Amino acid sequence: MLSQPGRRAALRVALRAAALGTAGAAAGGLTAACGPGRPDTAPSGSPPGPPRPARPAQAAPAAAPRRFAGQPVEIGHGPRDRPRVALTFHGNGDPAIARAVLAAAEKGGARVTVLAIGSWLDAHPELARRILDGGHELGNHTQRHLAINDMPEAEAYAEITGCAQRLKRLTGSIGTWFRPSQTQYATPLVRKLAQRAGYPHVLSYDVDSLDFTSPGAAAVIRTVTGTIRPGSVVSLHFGYADTVDAMPPLLEELARRKLRAVTTTELLTP
Ligand SMILES: [Zn+2]
Repeated sequence: MLSQPGRRAALRVALRAAALGTAGAAAGGLTAACGPGRPDTAPSGSPPGPPRPARPAQAAPAAAPRRFAGQPVEIGHGPRDRPRVALTFHGNGDPAIARAVLAAAEKGGARVTVLAIGSWLDAHPELARRILDGGHELGNHTQRHLAINDMPEAEAYAEITGCAQRLKRLTGSIGTWFRPSQTQYATPLVRKLAQRAGYPHVLSYDVDSLDFTSPGAAAVIRTVTGTIRPGSVVSLHFGYADTVDAMPPLLEELARRKLRAVTTTELLTP
């Protein structure tokens, strides 16, 4: 965590960079989303398969996926003519970091979208409700976060449905969104499989924070503020300390620009 003065310094650095129009590393050589090959994205936990016995839902069922008229199957951003953005998080890693990011979002008046990995939900099932109870949105980021675009059909489908079953068991819904693992864009086959599993859309993004490369909070802020615009869907990750430190100054800067951080469903709802 950065100290208060450290946070202010990080913000100053980010604002200066934004003023100069430097887009940060988003346009650079790192292209793959969600850190392919990064330690935290290695297979972990149980393989896809039947979830453990159901437990009663603790609250009303979460929202089901919906189809958004006029939107493509794969959505990379929302309307550009409204001052809203969606901060979307790869749900994995240390639960303390996840809780710290959620708390920072709530303190800053933001609602976010968490795409949870199924094996992470197996290890920390209480986080599903924590996310929903904070007014955030919860979705599916595959069971094990493998390179889904490279998988045979049956295996890729099991990755999607494995996570969907866990979400359903924990929340009453398969989650409002599906995001493919280790890629910004799904192949046509993965898009088709997501639809078969009950997700009318695949959620991509147009701003990559590159927080999973641990570049420091100031760089995360610089990258996001240098590329974000109305309608943007920003890819961020739980599991990295930089992201926690970046959240307060990032939300301050979004507020200064009058950009509201809303859930992805809110972003796309007219
Ligand atoms: Zn990911």
